[in-house]
Amino acid sequence: MRKITVAKGDGIGPEIMDATLEIIKAAGAQIEIEEIEVGEKVYLAGHSTGISKEAWDVIRRNKIFLKGPITTPQGGGYKSLNVTMRKFLGLYANVRPCVSLHPFVRTKHPDMDIVIVRENEEDLYAGIEHQQTDEIVQCLKLISRPGCEKIVRYAFEYARQYGRKKVTCFTKDNIMKQTDGLFHRVFDEIAREYPDIENEHWIIDIGAAKMADTPEAFDVIVTPNLYGDVLSDIAAQITGSVGLAGSSNIGEECAMFEAIHGSAPPIAGQNIANPSGLLQGAIMMLNHIGQMDVAERVQNAWLKTIEDGIHTFDIYKEGISKQQVGTREFAQAVIANLGQSPSQLKSVSFPRGTAFQLPKYQRKPAARKELVGVDLFVHWNDRDPNELAKVLQQLEDETLQLTMITNRGIKVWPEGFEETFCTDHWRCRFQHVSNTEVSKHHIVRLLSQAIDKRIDTIKTENLYVFDGKPAFSLGQGQ
Ligand code: NAD
Repeated sequence: MRKITVAKGDGIGPEIMDATLEIIKAAGAQIEIEEIEVGEKVYLAGHSTGISKEAWDVIRRNKIFLKGPITTPQGGGYKSLNVTMRKFLGLYANVRPCVSLHPFVRTKHPDMDIVIVRENEEDLYAGIEHQQTDEIVQCLKLISRPGCEKIVRYAFEYARQYGRKKVTCFTKDNIMKQTDGLFHRVFDEIAREYPDIENEHWIIDIGAAKMADTPEAFDVIVTPNLYGDVLSDIAAQITGSVGLAGSSNIGEECAMFEAIHGSAPPIAGQNIANPSGLLQGAIMMLNHIGQMDVAERVQNAWLKTIEDGIHTFDIYKEGISKQQVGTREFAQAVIANLGQSPSQLKSVSFPRGTAFQLPKYQRKPAARKELVGVDLFVHWNDRDPNELAKVLQQLEDETLQLTMITNRGIKVWPEGFEETFCTDHWRCRFQHVSNTEVSKHHIVRLLSQAIDKRIDTIKTENLYVFDGKPAFSLGQGQ
């Protein structure tokens, strides 16, 4: 018997959770449930995080968590509990299989069978945002080497365990050469350790277009957080309905399983929601805790039910479906099919063996790091970069000289274009005259002189060279 934490969640959560638990218990799941309350009621009771300390204790003790969808109240400074949970519990891998059920669920993509492995903790979801000038706000995109290594390795291990042939990496490293560039580089490094699995890289924009048009070209996709978020909703939707896909959130200690959709408030409490997404999450949970035989019984009975044309409203189509049913009736139909397999859809047989353990991250030896300059960010209301350059050149000394000014990343000095639209936010690069190491004292002096000259500096970024390689972006057009 395995103890698990269950939260029914909000909106359609309680009805789809009841249906899911009834099915997996009828199939013989060896689970003992400890229920907690999270979400709307908890938010409104005054916990701005949507979860109490006692509920955290239960989740951390049981380590396995099956969660219904949660409504994030609009406004009022409420933080998304889903994002909080993934990060607090170190659930670095979000796995979302999206498979079409042709010809029983209408889809333009009958041969689609992809798994999206989304990085779950970093990228723009660090949520570090600041307003810096009247006109500019910024969000920090953080990508770490441990984060990349863990998610890429997870994708290849998953592919190997589930007999998948190819792993595709999606990034935008033609633009973000440092952040997405690191993700891509780590992908290439780790791919070499898996010669039995094909690998490829696509730029995210054309890759996403290809996936929406020809999803059968892909197998496992691994990608940073934001791209994975967008891509996996598209992938689930084009299989037929977002109501069909489940997801697992895997960490080194804990794991959380859920549907990919939200709490669907407009259809809550009507016994019409499709419980399949959460059921798919529960099947992933059963596999994760080593109850593969139960997982298989449930999945095959579910496929048979879909094949029998017993459908909830979201996938019901005249001429394809046989009977439109409610949430409870759908669950009863799946239970009645336990022990049976589909005849046209492919029945499943899940690989045995416990959930794979990735090696602990080995921190790399520190690189040789040299400080070679600084980007000074300045709030300046005059639109003329040549005027700004004249003022900033008064700050130069024998070590640091102004080499470039950009506005929203585009070079506007020296030799900018009059046509370039400029905001009130300027990045002003100071570097060593002969490109050798500077000290932080030089930067402090620069800042102090800027104060004397009444220049409104809003932040600095140090310019480093790691092991002889410059580790900062050039200005666009530089
Ligand atoms: P949603 O996924 O709840 O709904 C999108 C559309 O899909 C709606 O038309 C809905 O009726 C339909 N739908 C969703 N699940 C369905 C199901 N099981 N059966 C049939 N139809 C289904 O997205 P939303 O409306 O943007 O979000 C509603 C709330 O859910 C928001 O508060 C949001 O923050 C939250 N949310 C939570 C999670 C989560 O808990 N993991 C994920 C996404 C959104």
